[in-house]
Amino acid sequence: MNDRDPFAVAVIPLDVKAVSRRAVLQRGLMAGMLVPFATFFVDHRSYAAAMALTPLTQEEPTAKARGYMLKSEKADQHCDNCTLYRGKPGDPEGGCLIFPAKSVASGAWCKSWVKRPT
Ligand code: SF4
Repeated sequence: MNDRDPFAVAVIPLDVKAVSRRAVLQRGLMAGMLVPFATFFVDHRSYAAAMALTPLTQEEPTAKARGYMLKSEKADQHCDNCTLYRGKPGDPEGGCLIFPAKSVASGAWCKSWVKRPT
């Protein structure tokens, strides 16, 4: 004979396992940590736009190391046709996977340029 409350029997199936508070907290913490990364995978460009990006200058050591130029000297190579660029088409600047937390000019160039697949 079932001595459970009839309402509980109707609403809560018998196979529901007891979940500890620790497990709930751990899963909640992990889910909270994944939210920024989920945003990144959903749309790289909006992630870059959401971040507060500081414009990259040619004088910065990392920029110098990669030969970053604000205006590309190669007509067919510039940031907005580089696969590492995260700006939207038509934007004057955008994020770049090589320079985290920085924005690069859409007409700029560096040695890491890789043609964006068409
Ligand atoms: S890798 Fe270089 S060329 Fe490509 S977007 Fe970044 S700065 Fe521009």
